[in-house]
Amino acid sequence: MHEMSIATSLLNIIRQEMDKHGATKLISVKVVFGKLSNIVADSLDFAFEVLTKDTVLEGAKLEIEELPLTMRCCKCETEFSPELANAMFAPCPECGEEFGHTLLTGKELYLENIQAE
Ligand SMILES: [Zn+2]
Repeated sequence: MHEMSIATSLLNIIRQEMDKHGATKLISVKVVFGKLSNIVADSLDFAFEVLTKDTVLEGAKLEIEELPLTMRCCKCETEFSPELANAMFAPCPECGEEFGHTLLTGKELYLENIQAE
């Protein structure tokens, strides 16, 4: 399950941030990821729960925000959200161009917010 390794690295970052600020209790954390990162929110939630159990991070609230996939056509600059199945080769709904679109959102994976005390 690739969410396990993602949760592990997110928790490492959280621990470092908490150390830096001398915090000992994690209250909540917000994770933002794009559709192309192949993360299943429920699995990430589960991984987070398993990995924080019996640690000082146990009981923290995990907020998850999933960003849609959006692209901009390289020819006519129309912005659109292709279906995931053919995401990278989706034709532009305006002009039909299939290749070279710019990915605007969809690959993100970051911690937006860490609340600790
Ligand atoms: Zn186009």
